[in-house]
Amino acid sequence: MTQQASISGLILAGGRGTRMGQVDKGLQPFRGKTMAAHVLERLAPQVASVAINANQNLDTYAALGVPVWPDDLAGFAGPLAGMEAGMRRCQTEFLLTAPCDSPFLPPDLAARLLAALRAQDAGLAFAMTQEPGRRPQPHPVFCLVKASLLPILSQYLAEGGRRMDGWYKDVKAIEVRFEDADAFRNINTLDELHSLDTPRAPRLAEVTSCLSGYDPDALPVKDAQRIIRAFVQPVRAVEQVALRAALGRVLARDIVSPIDVPAHDNSAMDGYALRGDDLPAEGQTRLAVIGTVYAGKPMDVAPGPGQCVRIMTGGVMPAGCDSVIPQEFVADEGTDAIVVAAGVLKAGDNRRFAGEDLKAGSAALREGKIIRPADLGLVASLGIAEVPVRRRLRVAFFSTGDELRSIGQPLDEGSVYDSNRYTIYGMLERLGCDIVDMGIVRDDPAALEEALRSACENADAIITSGGVSVGAADYTKQIMARLGDVTFWKIGMRPGRPLAFGRIASNGHGAFLFGLPGNPVAVMVSFYFFAREALLRMMGADAPLPLLRARSAGAIRKKPGRTEYQRGVLTHGEDGMPQVRITGSQGSGILRSMSEANCMVVLHDGQGNVAAGDMVDVLMFEGLV
Ligand code: AMP
Ligand code: MG
Repeated sequence: MTQQASISGLILAGGRGTRMGQVDKGLQPFRGKTMAAHVLERLAPQVASVAINANQNLDTYAALGVPVWPDDLAGFAGPLAGMEAGMRRCQTEFLLTAPCDSPFLPPDLAARLLAALRAQDAGLAFAMTQEPGRRPQPHPVFCLVKASLLPILSQYLAEGGRRMDGWYKDVKAIEVRFEDADAFRNINTLDELHSLDTPRAPRLAEVTSCLSGYDPDALPVKDAQRIIRAFVQPVRAVEQVALRAALGRVLARDIVSPIDVPAHDNSAMDGYALRGDDLPAEGQTRLAVIGTVYAGKPMDVAPGPGQCVRIMTGGVMPAGCDSVIPQEFVADEGTDAIVVAAGVLKAGDNRRFAGEDLKAGSAALREGKIIRPADLGLVASLGIAEVPVRRRLRVAFFSTGDELRSIGQPLDEGSVYDSNRYTIYGMLERLGCDIVDMGIVRDDPAALEEALRSACENADAIITSGGVSVGAADYTKQIMARLGDVTFWKIGMRPGRPLAFGRIASNGHGAFLFGLPGNPVAVMVSFYFFAREALLRMMGADAPLPLLRARSAGAIRKKPGRTEYQRGVLTHGEDGMPQVRITGSQGSGILRSMSEANCMVVLHDGQGNVAAGDMVDVLMFEGLV
């Protein structure tokens, strides 16, 4: 008899789902099926048969093709009551329970629990995980139990006991350690469900294996950008906000126009609406003015041949009229008539068509757009008061370094004020992120690990500065690698060679990590050329950096084989063309060079020395974020 033949599986779906707003957790949709269906799919290969314990929506559960067993105890008495119902009906030696909200349960759950239970001759075995430096985390609802222990459990329940581990005193219960804490992750709220309901993130190794000649110690800027782009995942959650509050946010769905804008054909000028047929081929013609149309005050007139209507800009075109002659083009004949000369107007001139700005049913704005002032106006023109936007991205950041002091602290020998946290604050704020400023973290492994874990648990992305350069990186690397999937690069660029990138997790919460170098210019350059695009992608936005071409005022020394970002000042040259000159000292620690510049000159990999007058690529700071 195979091991699995001795085990019946039971999916515990008997709760009320109070934390999901009274909805039945096991029936919540998740990646194309219900949560219970995911658990069933993972459990079925491990056991002889599966049943579901549920106390509501029994028919819906039964539609999954397995028996459904309600509690024998009344009143939603908790998982232990479900286990009792399972043990009572189970036909095998063992029962294995798993909660309906754990779609990632381990594929070797049954095998490992059974092996340990047998080895230690226990009555019950349950899973536990322990992340480094954390307390053990028991998972008592992932439990393999001998069905013959039913009388002991029933006795405990009859006495009013409800705690999952409350009856262990009467049975031999053992813990079995599993490595992957995420596999036991249960989903308690709809928010969590939605945040998880994204395609599985790739592993970094999967992404880098697609690059030919990938070398983490000599990585071209473009390759690093490509890897980051392929690796980060957008947040899915959407919120509905009042139109004004949408400024700077990322549109989550297309805005479809419910109306034609403008709603009617109307006049583009102050003048006279007339019939194009009445325009004289030569000489001049006299038209009688039969009324006046103001904007917002349409008039029910239909001029006949030889007639026209005085009309203001935006006024609705009267029936039969197709052209507007501006008032300065006509000779006045009192208020009753105008004289129009040949050749001053073509039929159809100065008439705006209904729907020429937007047609009803067409997309006025596309999903992923960062909403600018013009977009607010456009949405308002459709009469739409609220728009769906992606939820704000939460970004935690901290500086590392024993030499750093916060503003307000005395600057003792050898120390510097932490400036990176201010530049990073500014750049994140401009991107429209929610920020979590975590201050300065000492160069100490325990402090770094604690900061990274806390950042993970509170944010979607983490930005650190300092501590990734060659000398400093050893323990940083170890900690980051332990917390997740992180790679350390030496990028072919200047300033800003070292960069740590990846995704780390703590207690089931994951976050993308950007370990930027410590030098104040390097941190900004790395942010703009790597973190910025990644954060925007996570926000659901697409906003590539536009490079301009400008003439270099002077010669620039440049080594081929790496990308250089030189700080520059762009002005209009004497020929009226954009011209760029490099600001003084270009050291990667000299923040003044950034502050004085209005642009960066981007000198690409293959490029060598630049001669005065050569054209170079330039990235303007203004409008950047
Ligand atoms: P690191 O990458 O930690 O080796 O730091 C490189 C250089 O950047 C050192 O001179 C640091 O003092 C400086 N640095 C690191 N972090 C900061 C910061 N937050 N503010 C100002 N300077 C920093
Ligand atoms: Mg440092």
